[in-house]
Amino acid sequence: MGQPVNSFQRLRQVPGLSRVLDWGTGPAAASDETLRAGARVAGLKATESVCPYCAVGCGQVVYTRDGELVDIEGNPRSPINQGTLCPKGAASRQLVQQPGRLTKVRYRRPGGTEWEELELDQAMDMIAERVIAAREAGWQERDHNGHRVDRTLGFAHLGGATLDNEENYLIKKLFTAMGAVQIENQARI
Ligand code: SF4
Repeated sequence: MGQPVNSFQRLRQVPGLSRVLDWGTGPAAASDETLRAGARVAGLKATESVCPYCAVGCGQVVYTRDGELVDIEGNPRSPINQGTLCPKGAASRQLVQQPGRLTKVRYRRPGGTEWEELELDQAMDMIAERVIAAREAGWQERDHNGHRVDRTLGFAHLGGATLDNEENYLIKKLFTAMGAVQIENQARI
């Protein structure tokens, strides 16, 4: 004997009415083509991550094929966002693949009006030279009370939102070792 059919199920058998009752989201709303298509991320490697943009800390799933980023979606396993992402988080793939993203160091020298492209090694050397010079120029052996401090006020560090905890840990160690006292970050990931 088959399952008893209640009045609501009988109502659903009226042609077209089941679609209305599902508000366009039930199985009747899926076309044969949709059922054949499958998920667009099927077969891709999925890696769980955290959106770097704001302090909400939404979970993301990063989909890759052979190491190439294909898609980033909200992580349904995250208790914070339960699979959703705001427009900013949903566009975070562009952090990597935005066509206008700068991939070369650009430098505008003092008094210059044009940007110049530099090799990364040259830019790193220039930064290192400036760090050393600023450290020496701002060095304090003693404070105004005569206490030994051995510190520099020549530079400070302010971390960005997309730095993760591990990066900020290393930055804190580096700048403390160099004698800086103003070191802040906004670690989120
Ligand atoms: S998805 Fe939006 S709300 Fe969530 S962490 Fe990213 S920027 Fe913040």
